[in-house]
Amino acid sequence: MLRYEKIEDISDGKLYGEDDEVCVGTNGCKGCSYCCKSDMGKSIVLTPYDMYELNLVTGKSFDELLVEFVIELSMIDGIVMPHLKMDGGCKFLKDDRCSIHLHRPGICRLFPLGRLYNESGFDYIVQTNQCQIKGRTPVKVSDWLGIDELDKNTEFINKWHRFVKFERKKVSSIREMAGHEARRIREMAVEDLEVYAGIIGEQEDFEEKGAESYRSEKIEEINETSEATIKEVMKRCISILYLDKYDTTSDFYEQFDKRLRRTISEIRGMN
Ligand code: SF4
Ligand code: SF4
Repeated sequence: MLRYEKIEDISDGKLYGEDDEVCVGTNGCKGCSYCCKSDMGKSIVLTPYDMYELNLVTGKSFDELLVEFVIELSMIDGIVMPHLKMDGGCKFLKDDRCSIHLHRPGICRLFPLGRLYNESGFDYIVQTNQCQIKGRTPVKVSDWLGIDELDKNTEFINKWHRFVKFERKKVSSIREMAGHEARRIREMAVEDLEVYAGIIGEQEDFEEKGAESYRSEKIEEINETSEATIKEVMKRCISILYLDKYDTTSDFYEQFDKRLRRTISEIRGMN
């Protein structure tokens, strides 16, 4: 999720790497499940890696987890993203413990760490005023995350972050192009609008409806078409990257790379 606060307002102001020690050790959160019980809204956004892990630990597909209200889809910063359904607490919390601890989503692993992205990748930050436990102990970032093949995972996170930016840009460029076209038609002189209608083979339509009705219907059509294209872009992204169950007996990163290439090639030409 995009955050707009100043780094000093949400963290200790320092940047950390995976070999640095950070004071986030919570003694396994013993006796506390505050985060997992709270309504964290849409904040536990799932990456395709999280989906692979959820496929693996539950044996269930994306669709099944949706139907069981374990995850849901929401608009997050302009695009549809899946996230854990947190109203009433996380469905994986059993007897006050995380029932999928070894396979929990990346955001759960990070907390109370966060990521601050830059041009070449990201640094870790320690979010303050988040964890309720006092006297947290020092722990190495990589140990805290506990992710196998952290290098590969970091490479994946960077690719994923770039892709999400690309998808957001794609959506806004479709909307901008439609806005530009709608503005052009709104401002067209009647005689130019008639020529335009003739060029696109709608001369009869223009004459039947009259210039102003033709103009407003055209603008509506442009907006509807662009919103339909945007929906299709987001649908393809979800479908290719999450919906088809991952083969949990083989490497995630290879499967992801293939799916990512397919997604980019499918949505690139959509306008
Ligand atoms: S997946 Fe586990 S750690 Fe994450 S919110 Fe749910 S219960 Fe908590
Ligand atoms: S508030 Fe801190 S100790 Fe409690 S569940 Fe969250 S991370 Fe663990």
